[in-house]
Amino acid sequence: MRIPGIKTARLFSKWLQGRLLGGALILGYHHVSTVNDDDGELSVSPDHFREHLEIIRQRAHPIHLSELVHHLHQGKIPRKSVVVTFDDGYADNLLNAVPLLEQYQIPATVFVCTDYFGKEFWWDELKRLIINAPAHPNTLHLKIGGNQFDWSTSFSGQQVSNPADVNDRMRLLNLLYARLLPLDSEERGNVIGQVRLWSGDHEKYTGSNRALTTEELRELAGSELIEIGSHTVTHPILTQMTLEQQTMEIQHSKDTLEQVIGKTVPGFAYPNGKFSAETLGLVQQAGYAYACSSQKELARQPQQCYALPRLWPQDWDGKQFSRYLKLWTGT
Ligand SMILES: [Zn+2]
Repeated sequence: MRIPGIKTARLFSKWLQGRLLGGALILGYHHVSTVNDDDGELSVSPDHFREHLEIIRQRAHPIHLSELVHHLHQGKIPRKSVVVTFDDGYADNLLNAVPLLEQYQIPATVFVCTDYFGKEFWWDELKRLIINAPAHPNTLHLKIGGNQFDWSTSFSGQQVSNPADVNDRMRLLNLLYARLLPLDSEERGNVIGQVRLWSGDHEKYTGSNRALTTEELRELAGSELIEIGSHTVTHPILTQMTLEQQTMEIQHSKDTLEQVIGKTVPGFAYPNGKFSAETLGLVQQAGYAYACSSQKELARQPQQCYALPRLWPQDWDGKQFSRYLKLWTGT
């Protein structure tokens, strides 16, 4: 018999509490798209997203996130409440998700980073350069955070052709992602510039795997079903920053978004779900009414309003999503 680890046991106890005590389910998505080959972790296809929405519409009570926060303060959460959210602010949220949300009349909150309007996110660019690079030398030499990084590839400068190549590229990608994550955006940009040179890819990216432009953001915010929230300026790990830097990320993104859409931005989502007690205090001081984290449980109490838990559906079909929904909400 497999003895569950502490993590599994903790998750089970949260799930059990949810089943016994009830609460609202907040769902977190990133992409609604078929463009990204990421094993369905961050991208849900439009067909599968439609199935998720159909099930939510039939079996749950979809509400706005702000509405849920109001209910949490009142201590009365409508039964089977489900909230849909998106992180990062990808263009496909407007192009692919909104038509479906409108069809099923399901509200959603989109958390947007303000430094990426119309651009590719750094992690997407890094992945594209390494996985799809058409021509590059077999060795890669980088300066990262004052340290030398050297890598010899087993693959040559050709399109990905065999599984060993893919594995090697994925190893390099994962290693570089971990090294670049803690850097500030300027230093990270310099390293990605070096990778760009190495990859031989000098074309400006014009694909659809990018953030919303300001025009698209205004259009998105114009939908009655959509609420815009902030996801910082540069998508940093806030807990690794000074309080001053965190304040800039938290406050400046709110100001910019409000300027662009001409509406109050009431909510915030911590990048990578990471926050400290200080971060939480800064979010409150900046005038946000709530903030989302990534803890896997149901929302039940007003004390959770600045660390709202979320669950992350993957690229599941209706049957799988239905089982998941039932697991957490019993509906
Ligand atoms: Zn994010």
